[in-house]
Amino acid sequence: MSRRKKIYEGKAKILYEGPEPGTIVQYFKDDATAFNAQKKDVIEGKGVLNNRLCEYFMLGLQGVGVPTHFIRRLNMREQLVRSCEIIPLEVIVRNYAAGSMAKRLGMEEGTQLPRPIVEYCLKDDKLGDPLVTEEHIAAFGWASQQDMDDILSLALRVNDFMAGVMYAVGIRLIDFKIEIGRIYDGEYPRLVVADEISPDSCRLWDIETGRKLDKDVFRRDLGSLTDAYSEVARRLGLIPKPSATITKPTLIN
Ligand code: UDP
Repeated sequence: MSRRKKIYEGKAKILYEGPEPGTIVQYFKDDATAFNAQKKDVIEGKGVLNNRLCEYFMLGLQGVGVPTHFIRRLNMREQLVRSCEIIPLEVIVRNYAAGSMAKRLGMEEGTQLPRPIVEYCLKDDKLGDPLVTEEHIAAFGWASQQDMDDILSLALRVNDFMAGVMYAVGIRLIDFKIEIGRIYDGEYPRLVVADEISPDSCRLWDIETGRKLDKDVFRRDLGSLTDAYSEVARRLGLIPKPSATITKPTLIN
């Protein structure tokens, strides 16, 4: 691994040059950060779970015709993806009030929204990823109007897919964040879902009990993050049901 060229190291992932031009290897680290990296820890096994969960969501999205950058999972911690130009926005879709929106608007967490609400934040850690409007995006040229139409449509399609997949295993999709990339096929650019989709970037609550199965477990010190992510993977059939002899989650290929 050390022989490969590192392109970028973020909070939860490292990007390496891929084996062919136009490809990148995404390595999922065990590092967890919150509150713009003010809270940090290493959570053994988180990277393995997120790599597998992300593969499951990306393949599922492709299966229903939503384009993504995902090519294939390479091993426990790495996946091969198409390299793309990341649009500098975090695209957030919310079905229930939570987190920053609940705080901003003085809403109780868990309040159902009248319809999915899409928000945009500028990807800029130094500024703490501030909320921006489509006016800012257009005026500063971060994305064109056509891009914004495509981004909205992709975000809502991801929401429909993820909400359905989660509902089927007794989990409510409260909100999530995606990033969008631009890929050039010949001369023609097209937008795809990029980065990752995992419990690090979603809010997932058990429908029956309200138990949080996402990164809020780490942000708010609610217990074991790997237990929560393993529960999501187990319900989706990605790891076996716990047995008396297995103490650590083992991934099913
Ligand atoms: N989110 C994320 N990365 C970020 C900010 C938010 O993945 O840098 C996700 C977060 O996990 C949640 C959704 O986007 O599922 C909405 O987050 P929110 O704006 O409520 O921010 P937070 O309360 O997490 O600061």
